[in-house]
Amino acid sequence: MRIVVTGATKGIGRAITEVFATKGFDVAICARDEAALKKLEGLLKNKYPDIEVIAVAADMSLRADVFRFAEAIREKWDTVEVLVNNAGVFLPGNVTTEQEGTLEKLIETNLYSAYYMTREVLSLLQANDRGHIFNISSVAGMKAYPNGGSYSISKFAMTGLSKALREELNDQNIRVTTVMPGAVLTASWEGVNLPEERFIDVVDLAQLIYDCYKLSYRTVVEDLVVRPMLGDL
Ligand code: NAP
Repeated sequence: MRIVVTGATKGIGRAITEVFATKGFDVAICARDEAALKKLEGLLKNKYPDIEVIAVAADMSLRADVFRFAEAIREKWDTVEVLVNNAGVFLPGNVTTEQEGTLEKLIETNLYSAYYMTREVLSLLQANDRGHIFNISSVAGMKAYPNGGSYSISKFAMTGLSKALREELNDQNIRVTTVMPGAVLTASWEGVNLPEERFIDVVDLAQLIYDCYKLSYRTVVEDLVVRPMLGDL
């Protein structure tokens, strides 16, 4: 069994990688920071000696890097079962006042990364007899909120991409799940002075994603909406 996770060195991507590695999955991972990626690669190989790890430093907002990561995977693997489009950034702001270029950066990182990666990995999912794509959107991709600005636009677009894929792939035994978490305690929230109890536990989210994957292929969780117990921040 093989999984591809984009943006795997921290936060949600890291937790998903660990959960699937624990279950014996080979993992293909990427992030921009090569040192952090190599560190994670070493840790995974050490902790799970029986799995294969493909680690490629790549900026998923750049089409050439997406293709390079996908090519490195195709060179070694002819099938993949799970793709997690997770790489993403949060830049706060309001549509009317945020710095020019914010929308472009967020669309390139949070949407185009998933669009191109899915197109690149699709043949490997199809070559497997079944597949599962998880697209990490956000509650900001179903409801706009103040200071959400272009981030919310990018996540609505990610939700749209995910729903389009679900319709396109439902007769190919490839499940598509749109994951819409509220606040998850990760590096994205560094510096925010709130108790950890106000956030979703990243391990809970990763475990939920694994549980969705574990269902029989007769069933698909289309939308996974997860919030902190006390609601959105
Ligand atoms: P995080 O802790 O900041 O981790 C992001 C990961 O993605 C890191 O490994 C980072 O490594 C990588 N990454 C960022 N930009 C990248 C790029 N251009 N190319 C390749 N890798 C990149 O973030 P997170 O909170 O786990 O968020 C992960 C996803 O969940 C995002 O799509 C985010 O929008 C979504 N989300 C988060 C929350 C939340 O509250 N945390 C809520 C809803 C949705 P490098 O920096 O080295 O590239």
